[in-house]
Amino acid sequence: MSDEKSFHMSPAEFRRHGHAVVDWIADYYSRIETFPVLSRVEPGEIRASLPADPPRKGESVEAMLHDVEKLILPGVTHWQSPNFYAFYPCNASGPSILGDLLSSGLGVQGMLWATSPACTELETHVLDWLVGMLSLPQRFRSTSTGGGMIQDSASSASLCALLAARERATNFASNQHGCDGKLVAYTSAQANSSIVKDAQIAGLGRDRLRLIEVDQNFAMQPDALARQITADRQAGFVPCFVCATVGTTSSNAMDPVADVGRICREHNLWLHVDAAMAGTAALCPEFRHMHNGLEFADSYCFNAHKWMFTNFDCDCFYVADRASLVQTFTLLPEYLRNKATESGAVIDYRDWQIPLGRRFRALKLWFVIRHYGVEGLQHHVREHVRLAQQFADWIRSDDRFELAAPVPLNLVCFRHKGGDEANQTLMDRLNRSGDLYLTHTRLNERLTLRLCVGQTNTIERHVEHAWKRIQEEAASLP
Ligand code: PLP
Repeated sequence: MSDEKSFHMSPAEFRRHGHAVVDWIADYYSRIETFPVLSRVEPGEIRASLPADPPRKGESVEAMLHDVEKLILPGVTHWQSPNFYAFYPCNASGPSILGDLLSSGLGVQGMLWATSPACTELETHVLDWLVGMLSLPQRFRSTSTGGGMIQDSASSASLCALLAARERATNFASNQHGCDGKLVAYTSAQANSSIVKDAQIAGLGRDRLRLIEVDQNFAMQPDALARQITADRQAGFVPCFVCATVGTTSSNAMDPVADVGRICREHNLWLHVDAAMAGTAALCPEFRHMHNGLEFADSYCFNAHKWMFTNFDCDCFYVADRASLVQTFTLLPEYLRNKATESGAVIDYRDWQIPLGRRFRALKLWFVIRHYGVEGLQHHVREHVRLAQQFADWIRSDDRFELAAPVPLNLVCFRHKGGDEANQTLMDRLNRSGDLYLTHTRLNERLTLRLCVGQTNTIERHVEHAWKRIQEEAASLP
């Protein structure tokens, strides 16, 4: 036995503290409904409660957990509360947390197949499972020309897609000489702001991303897209990329993927389909129509970390032709050379993404799929959709309210008929009460409230309570 001085946590200590932390998390879930969903702290309040200097001597885990409870929890907005209806969900679940813990425990960095074969192969395998589970096009399978992988976020996935599109359109010259200012890309005026950010980062520039008009349902108008592409070509631009959204962030609008896809095919443009939130619904055959036309897509993504009960971060990204993605990103410095890579028989996911390093994220997704099974996942998705539709019916049947957009799945966009100020007051009061948390958007230039039923543990009584609270606050509006 070495008597070298060590400050590390021994395996025995880790076991003890690990049990305490898991107990703390389990207790947190059993009392989560007692906390105000939206944190009530003021800016700077949390920092002001923390010591100015780091400790000179190590402290106990007990002391840390005590401070989590006392100092950190007040500054937490409880995304895992079943009364969370804001934005889109960012779900965790027991199996996912355990899979993530194992990933931390193994501490693998899976940039190359060789740096941990299981990290790569489990990811490839689970992403192939999902092709079947969501009935995605066969070209997305790793056994075909494409394949899937896990990105941190939908923003990164669409950026990778845009970069590959840029390279394909310029015969891989942009990587070499930079972007020439003629490339243009397209998405709808309702697309997530991440697509704008992607255009900035990819060197196209914001002006070169055309925001195509939407129809009365907030979905991209294919005719307007076709007209803009033609006008751009005539003006000497080089169209390269279209991003269609299945389930926009504002209102869950569904772009007509098949029509958009045919236009992309005609003009040889890369089609990326962003189904960040809504994609999970394709677990259920009755919702798969939203994916009609996906066979035209060059790439696709959805966030298992939104609605598939897998904690952040876990975006599932697919390409139909992996060669163009790999050619966009691959570089092989001497220090990464290894036999497996050179044999060509393995996937090195560092060639599919922007960072070099990567975590073993497939473990949590694998745990989730194995825990719930396809039927378990389908059950919860169907329940969320059913509850959202029920909420939409309550809105329809109350004269004071109106729906502000179609409700294809689990997001209800609605407003009080009293105008923007009334809606703002209503939302502020509800959120301040701590009973629930919902957020807003602007549709047709009017403030609109959004209620998304998608948190892992939201069941009927929560949605009933949300509606009761909304009605109460509406009754006392000035
Ligand atoms: N795309 C859509 C349609 C979204 O709704 C969102 C987030 O809500 C994003 C992209 C961005 O997701 P991420 O945080 O994974 O980048």
